[in-house]
Amino acid sequence: MTNELNDVAEFPELKFVAPRRQPPPTHLADLGLTKAQELCVSNGYPKFRATQVAKHWYGRFDSDTDSFTDLPAAERTAILDLLLPNLLTEVRQITCDNGTTAKSLWRLHDGALVESVLMRYTDRATVCISSQAGCGMACPFCATGQGGFTRNLSVAEIVCQVQRAAADMAFGRIAGGVGRLSNVVFMGMGEPLANYNTIVTAIRRMTEPAPNGFGISARGITVSTVGLVPRIKQLADEGIPVTLAVSLHAPDDELRNELVPVNNRWNVREVLDAAWYYARQTKRRVSIEYAMIKDINDQEWRGDRLGRILRGHLAHVNLIPLNPTPGSKWTASTPGAESAFVAAIERHGVAVTVRDTRGREIEGACGQLAANPN
Ligand code: SAH
Repeated sequence: MTNELNDVAEFPELKFVAPRRQPPPTHLADLGLTKAQELCVSNGYPKFRATQVAKHWYGRFDSDTDSFTDLPAAERTAILDLLLPNLLTEVRQITCDNGTTAKSLWRLHDGALVESVLMRYTDRATVCISSQAGCGMACPFCATGQGGFTRNLSVAEIVCQVQRAAADMAFGRIAGGVGRLSNVVFMGMGEPLANYNTIVTAIRRMTEPAPNGFGISARGITVSTVGLVPRIKQLADEGIPVTLAVSLHAPDDELRNELVPVNNRWNVREVLDAAWYYARQTKRRVSIEYAMIKDINDQEWRGDRLGRILRGHLAHVNLIPLNPTPGSKWTASTPGAESAFVAAIERHGVAVTVRDTRGREIEGACGQLAANPN
């Protein structure tokens, strides 16, 4: 799909033209099946055309016109334009880890850029998706946080990232042959809980079985947040048992105020109380994310303090070696500091894992998704 704005984006001298904030075209994933059926009827097509399209798109990851052989050839393009307008134009896909990690840069209808990363492991395949173009949370160690906020993504813009990754797996386009997408993590660009209603609807499309969704287990979906307390509580009561990840990064308010500025609004205590409420309501173990930053938050005493505030709760610590952003004065912790930190947490009986660093050389690793098109 081309539109005026995409064309403008091709002319760098016009880049200061104020971006137009027209919503993206409405898509099957925005509508849900019932409304999509109504749309078909109001456009003069039988209602079941929507079901046919949805079975292909959610159930078989088809998007190529030729695959929709059960739609009348004469109407195929028009029906697909109506229900599956193109929302993500692939600018580039780059791979690493012997082809098992693939980062995609997408251009949205208004020229905004977002990224997603597909990571294939022996026993699962995970796509890391974006929920916003840019991010307003301003965490100083995060590449997206440095770029500021552009806009929220729509339901379909989020769901389409999952559909593309599922298609890459299903059609054997990722090293390792044909496979199935099993996991989705909201750890790409943006703060998912700042786009709350949208991500909740997107999650329902991911979990409901075809023709309403992809049928991915809610347990395989992780929502990662800086700690928007009222939204964590709301999500806890939503009845969708996704995994919650809280980006803690410091056990004390003094440092967390700096590393995760929203801590000035909801502090460590309040964020963890909300996390424990989430764990109680969903019976799901909460993941505590902690980027290990050399000499900033990786002291043994902080590990001890972290263990102390988490002990006895349904929690699991996920240490992420810092991926320094370009020009950053910070670097990742040394292996020695890391193991002392791990031991300090474990002494409290709290489970810890160190996150692997997939996608580093393609800037597809945590916090590296700055969507620099060059
Ligand atoms: N806004 C959400 C989700 C996106 S970031 C959140 O903050 O949780 C996903 C995870 O990557 C977060 O834990 C985030 O703090 C972490 N992260 C961001 N930049 C990073 C970096 N440079 N190195 C390591 N982890 C980083």
